Amino acid sequence: MTVFSHPEFDNHEHLSFFCDPETGLRAIVAIHNTSRGPALGGCRMFPYASDEEALRDVLRLSRGMTYKSALANLDLGGGKSVIIGDPRKQKTEALLEAMGKHLEGLGGQYIAAEDSGTSVPDLKVMGRHTRHVAGIVERTAFDGQTSNGDPSPTTAYGTFIGLKAAVRHKLGREDLTGLKVAIQGVGNVGFRLARHLKDAGAELWVYDIHQENMQRAVDELGAHAASAEDILFLPVDVVAPCAMGAVLNDDSIPRLQAKVVAGAANNLLQQPHHDQALKDRGILYAPDFAINAGGIIDVFYERSGASPDVVREHVEGIGQTLAEIFTRSDNSGIPTGEIANTLAEERFQARSGKAKKGHDQLEGV
Ligand code: NAD
Repeated sequence: MTVFSHPEFDNHEHLSFFCDPETGLRAIVAIHNTSRGPALGGCRMFPYASDEEALRDVLRLSRGMTYKSALANLDLGGGKSVIIGDPRKQKTEALLEAMGKHLEGLGGQYIAAEDSGTSVPDLKVMGRHTRHVAGIVERTAFDGQTSNGDPSPTTAYGTFIGLKAAVRHKLGREDLTGLKVAIQGVGNVGFRLARHLKDAGAELWVYDIHQENMQRAVDELGAHAASAEDILFLPVDVVAPCAMGAVLNDDSIPRLQAKVVAGAANNLLQQPHHDQALKDRGILYAPDFAINAGGIIDVFYERSGASPDVVREHVEGIGQTLAEIFTRSDNSGIPTGEIANTLAEERFQARSGKAKKGHDQLEGV
């Protein structure tokens, strides 16, 4: 397994490999760039088939956080962590505590939040040994509801706002009544996105590898159940991948029937050239790290104690950012992902020469 010459390495500032044989913890923390501030990003737990697969995922996810925070104009850098294991079978308090101790050793360069396979209670367990965890404070969320710190509702709302911006741009529609949307993965984000869409009058198709999650969307939202093979390729207006990354690839892109791809999962493009491949097919792609920034915006404001209105306004800015990306893409012929990358790079490279903010300085911004 290569590290510095790994194709996804992209000048990461720091990588840590954690092993705790007593608890079975095997984890990787990746810090991509801290020029805008400390690296904040989710801690994912997944039964990766190999160390190589885990490394590849954490490098891609970490880099994505640098771009996401910069594009969302937050004073944060980019990082991510992965725990190798099945969250349903191997996640124990002892393992999470061991992860917390390791995070503490990084001294606040990296701050962990929940992600696929981890939850707010899990982060609280890690937090027994470190204060470098985020998204765990109970407060009033952007929608006036009590939040336990889980950023998923804000991510889902931001994705909904972004999806509407994409539909407006590509299909010229403001009203979502009867809009056909296929959602891959109806977990924390996907289910809430489905509910926003249902409330707006959309017709939904869903697939989830966990039958009970899919059934909940069918029972509570009247969604149609689809299959693993079909969910991305249905004759719908919008496909919203909300499970795993790399689902936009050589195999899937030629078979898409939707005109818009707008989903919350990270790193949707398997390779950079799939951005152009989507544009060539006339499919409008809402770049993942622009549309799913609601969670990081929410976590950022948790640390400053800003009012729900400030959070909502910032999240709704996702729609304007995407509208700008779509227009610039149309005008230049450059695909949307590349435009979003350029905008983000301008924002974090502009800070590279400046003093880096530490964790303590972040609190209170
Ligand atoms: P989650 O684990 O709650 O939900 C993911 C769902 O996808 C689960 O129901 C799971 O069973 C399902 N799933 C997994 N593999 C699948 C497959 N191959 N096909 C269909 N379904 C599958 O996670 P989440 O918090 O909802 O996050 C979903 C995605 O959005 C992840 O990629 C995550 O990184 C990204 N994301 C989440 C947030 C957040 O605030 N939670 C923020 C930004 C990005």
